[in-house]
Amino acid sequence: MEAELPDARVSQADISETAIGGLAPGDIVVATEIVFRRGDRVRCPAAPVLWHALRRRGLDARLTALDTRSSEEGEAAVLLTTGPFDEGCGVAVAVSDRHLSGLATAREVMRAAAAAGGRRRVLLASPRSFCAGVERAVEIVERVLARNGPPVYVRKQIVHNSHVVRELEQRGVVFVDEVDEIPVGAPVVFSAHGVSPAVRAASTARELEVVDATCPLVTKVHAEARRFAGRGDTLVLIGHPGHEETEGTMGQAPERTVLVQNVADVALLEVADPQRVSYLTQTTLAVDETEEVIRALRARFPALRGPRSDDICYATTNRQNALRAVVDQADVVLVVGSENSSNSQRLVELARRSGTSAHLIDDVAQIEWEWLSGAETVGLTAGASAPASLVDEVVAVLRGLGPVEVVEEPVAREDVGFALPRKVFAHER
Ligand code: SF4
Repeated sequence: MEAELPDARVSQADISETAIGGLAPGDIVVATEIVFRRGDRVRCPAAPVLWHALRRRGLDARLTALDTRSSEEGEAAVLLTTGPFDEGCGVAVAVSDRHLSGLATAREVMRAAAAAGGRRRVLLASPRSFCAGVERAVEIVERVLARNGPPVYVRKQIVHNSHVVRELEQRGVVFVDEVDEIPVGAPVVFSAHGVSPAVRAASTARELEVVDATCPLVTKVHAEARRFAGRGDTLVLIGHPGHEETEGTMGQAPERTVLVQNVADVALLEVADPQRVSYLTQTTLAVDETEEVIRALRARFPALRGPRSDDICYATTNRQNALRAVVDQADVVLVVGSENSSNSQRLVELARRSGTSAHLIDDVAQIEWEWLSGAETVGLTAGASAPASLVDEVVAVLRGLGPVEVVEEPVAREDVGFALPRKVFAHER
């Protein structure tokens, strides 16, 4: 078959269709790299987004390099492309002639990809990604793994990020919900979110060797909870029900602690002695919303006492300030983080409260073309438990859709570091 193949030097605002050969019957190939007939070779970093978009629509596509020079043999196919390949970017999918429904779907997805393409600015919120508590927790698990070998048991997710958890699982870490799932006498790592005294007692009863990866800033809140409850106060914890950190903090003084989420909860509070009320907060809350709740508590309990400095940690505060600095200029905000990451969710809410559409993504697989259509400026950040490499991958995808100017102006310098527990050093068992 003699076919006109797209010329790598021609910019394409929309999709282009070309007949090629060389595919297996029924095959659909998303190109990670495309080699044109005249030999031009273009990488397609946005290919994973296209691949996932097709899979979400039920198409079983392959993700691989596509060399159109070797397309003479094999089944006839239609190559759909959108550039501009002359600027080193674009996406391409080849659909075998026999896959008629696949071709219709691929056209639809590629039209959305074409609409998402174009020149844009990326405003990188800074700081973003890992905080000191997350780095410490992950390093603790890695050191226990190196010291003991697999399996290493961790109670709950070490940090709330699916990539971190999956990667550790592949290396032999076993995440459990409760310590009674762990063999008697085995080592256990407590997650960065902390545990209640009841969990410590259960671990002791099981003779587990505890290695505590609780973030020191959460440990500080636990100490405050015990101190406030010890002086006879009702302790009002501002936080999210069901979150592991909240459960660990409430467990420090369960009989004296009540949980509130918002101003409406404050209005319903009943306490034994309004003169003896203290508050604490989860470390990963929205700074402005929490201030409102504290104001409401003070209005109801003028003798309210609290921690000397805010419990919302430096990393949460910095990531929110960093996003605040870019959100008004962005057409859309992407927050890299997992669903169960509280501080990532707060970043999404912050952007939306500012009137900017925002999406939480675990990784590039969850990007939808429609979000990028018309978005000349993209705000990009990541929660404190999301690896920085995932942000780099998002930038690479955007570069695969058109020329990208990356702008980054840090709002704070982070030089916080936490010491590791002695137990994790190989010679100190
Ligand atoms: S987000 Fe804050 S409290 Fe949580 S692990 Fe990081 S530094 Fe510690």
